[in-house]
Amino acid sequence: MAEASGTVVLVDCGLALTETERRLARVGLEPNAVSAILVTHEHGDHACGAFEFAAAHRVPVYLTHGTHAALRAEGKVLDGVPVVVVNGRQAFFVDGLQVLPFTVPHDAREPVQYVLSDGAAKLGVLTDVGISTAHVEKMLSGLNALVLECNYDYDMLWNGAYPRWLKERIAGPFGHLDNLESERLLAAVDRSRLKHVIGAHLSQQNNRPELARALEACRRQRATLVIAKLDRLSRNLAFIAALMDSGTDFVAVDNPHATRLTLHILAAVAEHEREMISARTRAALEAARARGVRLGNPRPGEAAERASAAVKAAADQFATNVLPIIRELQASGVKSRAALAAALNARRVPTAGGGE
Ligand SMILES: [Zn+2]
Ligand SMILES: [Zn+2]
Repeated sequence: MAEASGTVVLVDCGLALTETERRLARVGLEPNAVSAILVTHEHGDHACGAFEFAAAHRVPVYLTHGTHAALRAEGKVLDGVPVVVVNGRQAFFVDGLQVLPFTVPHDAREPVQYVLSDGAAKLGVLTDVGISTAHVEKMLSGLNALVLECNYDYDMLWNGAYPRWLKERIAGPFGHLDNLESERLLAAVDRSRLKHVIGAHLSQQNNRPELARALEACRRQRATLVIAKLDRLSRNLAFIAALMDSGTDFVAVDNPHATRLTLHILAAVAEHEREMISARTRAALEAARARGVRLGNPRPGEAAERASAAVKAAADQFATNVLPIIRELQASGVKSRAALAAALNARRVPTAGGGE
């Protein structure tokens, strides 16, 4: 979502209708405030929600001829939605906002990315690109802000669990940028006005949650790191440590007043909250028992199902946060379970069950 001089556009829409609506509401926007959806290419994570949102809220969809054809072939184009076919080399306007599409190498029918300008400021978006090109670097020069793909860590991808064909696809010239390539691209563009770099399209499987590379790039370029969701990251102690050590300036989209100090405080509060919740639960259970309430669920099967789903979700979250750290430790020669647990404890990483 980008907003300038009262014009709101969505760059891609890869979420379900209700989720897109929920996220707009979170930043205080009604769906009907959206003037256009600019689709970059037909891949599901970019386009699968575009036509539903457009149909529900009467928003035109902008996309290239090739993207339109590919989505039509998949049955994703809904009748009655206004479509504007974009020429990948020609600027156009959405209300007062100038949109400059540019072509990129990626394994889609006719992919483009976009630079948006309201005359005063220029924002560029680059996700889903296999390699940087002179054209891409020219388009991304002189920006005030850049949303830049840092898709994967090269070693994590190649040592990871993905099948070989997928690794080759991701790392190939029509796949995605790895952290180093993103950094190289950033170094190659004119950054004289660049104030914000947003690391985007991060692989959940093949990248580090602490965004080590993004931090490094920001430090080198003296740019500010923009964090999308501080509340989630503030619970990740490894991330906080990396952020603090990096000396990088940052802003958090969901908490624009956050500073180095508040991040520390938020992390402490989050930890305290976790402890309080378990203490409160214990106290409530004891009080109920004292009142003679028989504890237990009249429908134990259902409750067990819910509980195991909750445990699974917690374990998944844990895995996303902690697995990269474990891999790092393993790579540095820590092999046995006991040694790993000790190393994790030393880093104050809680286990999936919540203990240490
Ligand atoms: Zn993508
Ligand atoms: Zn893609």
